[in-house]
Amino acid sequence: MQPQPGFGGGAPAPPAPVAYVCGDCGTENTLKPGDVIRCRECGYRILYKKRTKRVVQYEAR
Ligand SMILES: [Zn+2]
Repeated sequence: MQPQPGFGGGAPAPPAPVAYVCGDCGTENTLKPGDVIRCRECGYRILYKKRTKRVVQYEAR
């Protein structure tokens, strides 16, 4: 086996879009690694990562 050039040669993980929810207006922003964390609607800079694999529920009481 020989190492394939450009594959597995120290390249970072493939960019996977991650869904974030704006902490201000609640707009969903899909960002790729390296993108600026910023709401595209209102410009708010605090986004919360959205759980896509499982629903997280908070106990009300
Ligand atoms: Zn926003």
